[in-house]
Amino acid sequence: MSDKPDKLITDDGLRLDGRRADEIRPMKIEIGVLSRADGSCYLEWGRNKILVGVFGPREAHPRRSQRADSAVIRYRYNMASFSVEDRARPGPSRRSIEISKVSREAFEPVIMAELFPKTAIDIFVEVLQADAGTRTAAINASSIALADAGIPMKGLITSCAFGKVDGQIVLDLNKDEDNYGDADFPVAMTQDGEITLVQMDGHLTPEEIKKGMELVKKGCKEILEIQQAVLRKKFATPVEDTEEEAAGTEKEGEKEESVPAPEAVQEAAVVEEAVKETEELGAEASEEPSAADVLSSEVIPDFDEELDEEIEEEFEAEEFEAEEEDEDLEDEDEAEEEEFEAESEDDLEDDLEDDLEEALEDEDEFEASFEGTPELKEFDEIEARLEKESVSIEAEEEIGLEPEAEEFVEEESSLEEESEVEETEAASEETIEPETEVEPKVETGEASTEAVEAEEEPEEEKSEGPWKVVKDPSEAGNRGEKDE
Ligand code: UDP
Repeated sequence: MSDKPDKLITDDGLRLDGRRADEIRPMKIEIGVLSRADGSCYLEWGRNKILVGVFGPREAHPRRSQRADSAVIRYRYNMASFSVEDRARPGPSRRSIEISKVSREAFEPVIMAELFPKTAIDIFVEVLQADAGTRTAAINASSIALADAGIPMKGLITSCAFGKVDGQIVLDLNKDEDNYGDADFPVAMTQDGEITLVQMDGHLTPEEIKKGMELVKKGCKEILEIQQAVLRKKFATPVEDTEEEAAGTEKEGEKEESVPAPEAVQEAAVVEEAVKETEELGAEASEEPSAADVLSSEVIPDFDEELDEEIEEEFEAEEFEAEEEDEDLEDEDEAEEEEFEAESEDDLEDDLEDDLEEALEDEDEFEASFEGTPELKEFDEIEARLEKESVSIEAEEEIGLEPEAEEFVEEESSLEEESEVEETEAASEETIEPETEVEPKVETGEASTEAVEAEEEPEEEKSEGPWKVVKDPSEAGNRGEKDE
């Protein structure tokens, strides 16, 4: 950072960069510098260097950002880390977010956003070199880039700041004046003088503000003239003139020193020429439709070349669109991720319902696949038999379920006894296993099968306590089926 100079304004009223109090820094504007942007502008203002790209109107992503009645205007001001003396921290900062917001609001009154519902108009500002007044420089550049993109506007926006330096009101502060001055007052306005941005940093009296506003109006008028001149240069040149000029240059080779037509106009002229040649060739071909001509390598290759060129151009245009789409899709992916997160709860419920339905269908299918199989037949027979004979103990005896049922009753009663026994055991701290205690009682009963099964059970299961002995009644049923 440079040291504070003794005086920012010399005795003869000149500022350190040689300007008078009411003068703006020299401004240079280039238009259409980015081929992938719909509109672009490179602007130098003093030592400020700003690049702006405008995209749109294009479908707004994420979709929730869309407005049904108009386009959304998005403005991103970004300062390159190398744009300032002390490296700027990359990424958004409070300052850049604030500048983006006020700059967007500066454009909202003039952009006819209502013509493009559900779309977005993106303005990307890159500050490549900063020397105070970058937000005003960026607004001036954005205005041009928007016009270059063909965004309908009620007029251009121009922007300029005034400030107070060494007690004097001066126009368009440079870095030193901004750093060591007393106040900075950026303003943006329409070409009719309607204010769309006002900010103030420092202290100013109402009289000072009034005086400063007069200077700003003058500054903005000058900037507007530069902007209009640049836009006229690009858009006011009729294609016919350029064509004639190009033809003349071709023939005489004399006009080469004249101011070259803007790149885009030159391109347009070349395309026009190519189309004309193609038409002439087409006419020739139709006038002499002999087989020799049709097949002659003079005509066909030329056509092919023209066609190739056209196809290539188309292809390039499509490629550009595809790239744009990719960008959009990325945005969309992000948006969809967010949406997904938001909707996941609902989706989960829906999914579970779907899964359940599917599972039920699968079950039906699964059951259907067994139709007519001997197993199913057998099962049906048993079922029919069970239905016929009322479910009595006799019937159960017949199909071999009795022992199990009895077993279960026995188990229940034995469990009660077991728990009693366990309580006593706990009291006397004896380590006799409940099974061993219970078994004799079970054996004294009728269901000796249970005793056998209990014996067959693994040791650790037995030692876990009496609960393991309990058999599920449904298990009993299964075993009964197996037995049968
Ligand atoms: N600046 C800087 N580092 C930063 C931000 C700003 O050196 O992180 C410098 C830069 O030259 C900028 C000037 O300070 O132009 C004044 O910044 P201000 O916030 O007033 O905005 P500006 O005048 O550029 O619109």
